[in-house]
Amino acid sequence: MPIWEPQKECVSRDELQQIQLERLQATLNRVYRNVSFYRRRFKEMDFYPAEDLAELKDLERLPFTTSEDVSNSYPYEMFAVPLREVVRVHSSSGTQTNPRVVGYTRQDLNNWSNLVARILSAGGVTQDDVIQVTFGYGLLTGGLGIHYGAERVGASVLPTSVGRTERQIKIMQDFRTTVMASTPSYALVIADRMEKLQINPRTLSLKYCICAGEPWAESMRQEIEERLFVKFTDNYGVSEVMGPGVAGECLEQKGMHLQEDHFLCEIIDPRSGEVLPPQEEGELVITTLTKEAFPMIRYRTGDVCRILEEPCPCGRTFRRMSPIRERCDSVVVMKGTNIIPERIGDVLEELKGARPIYQIVAIREGHQDHLEIWVEVTEQFFSDRMREQRTLVEVMKEKIVNFIGINARIKLVETGSLERENGHVRLFVDRRLP
Ligand SMILES: [Zn+2]
Repeated sequence: MPIWEPQKECVSRDELQQIQLERLQATLNRVYRNVSFYRRRFKEMDFYPAEDLAELKDLERLPFTTSEDVSNSYPYEMFAVPLREVVRVHSSSGTQTNPRVVGYTRQDLNNWSNLVARILSAGGVTQDDVIQVTFGYGLLTGGLGIHYGAERVGASVLPTSVGRTERQIKIMQDFRTTVMASTPSYALVIADRMEKLQINPRTLSLKYCICAGEPWAESMRQEIEERLFVKFTDNYGVSEVMGPGVAGECLEQKGMHLQEDHFLCEIIDPRSGEVLPPQEEGELVITTLTKEAFPMIRYRTGDVCRILEEPCPCGRTFRRMSPIRERCDSVVVMKGTNIIPERIGDVLEELKGARPIYQIVAIREGHQDHLEIWVEVTEQFFSDRMREQRTLVEVMKEKIVNFIGINARIKLVETGSLERENGHVRLFVDRRLP
């Protein structure tokens, strides 16, 4: 199978570590010079990059960077170049106090396209393909990230963006789409709708499905492959670090190759912060090695996985990460949006000046993910009158959709009925995976 940059993706481990060390040195020097956040922290630790980084392991002396740090630096505090050198800005959807804003120089965009091109090639995409990108275009990184990578490969790109399923299917038929880039659940929504419209997927030209953006189970991969007659590969991105392009599966489908010449990856115990052997399950921590505008040092992704070290039959020497099945912080990832359960409480609190007892539940019905917010009925929060209750529920729904951009169902439940742990209600329950 073809490899986009064999001289880089198949480099020996020794050579790779040498490249990583040189790039890490340059990155630490850059942030020490240009980002006051890092300079202050390095000084506190008595760490001077030019003297104190002799081997990769020395990185472990430095503190982690969290999504909160990025949020607090809103909008441009952590940029390592002046704005005139920034040619693109992306931002997370703002369910935190401040969204997380990231910038790219021209060279960053160049690297980004190239890394996504590697991942698409690993998933089977070539210049002969027609790729339909159903990720959102806009401030989030998904749509444009995949788009530029696909153009780099030379494929014909259809930037259909999200939603309007029947139109997506018509385009798929008429434009002879061979590759669909989507979330796994949206691939199944397409399959369901085609069934309803009595369109036989065999009459389409689809060959590959490049998936990302939410947790999935092996049974889901199987279903997508069997119903759409495609090969499914998973890929992984982190907006704060780059977007899509961080890691992706090859056609062996045995975990996602990390792009280790651009990212240094560690696995840590999310509670103690201790570095674990990479093959143990823990939180993935990423340091960027080539980013100019927005370098990240030891960024805690919140995603739980293992790093697989066994060689891959495809010939790439980069290690692979296992699929993400859960997160270790309280962020809920749904339809590509990060939701922080506490912030939902802040929104509900605005309504009556009191914080209700609530729980966020993610469920999967058929192939659609839904967000439910279960709220305990208390005297303080709800009146006995049904009509007033209904109005309040409607107002809640509207507030939530304005805040996170996703429709939620509000369910009223009896006082004391939500499951408690040590007296506290678990703010989030994920019922999407079996
Ligand atoms: Zn491989």
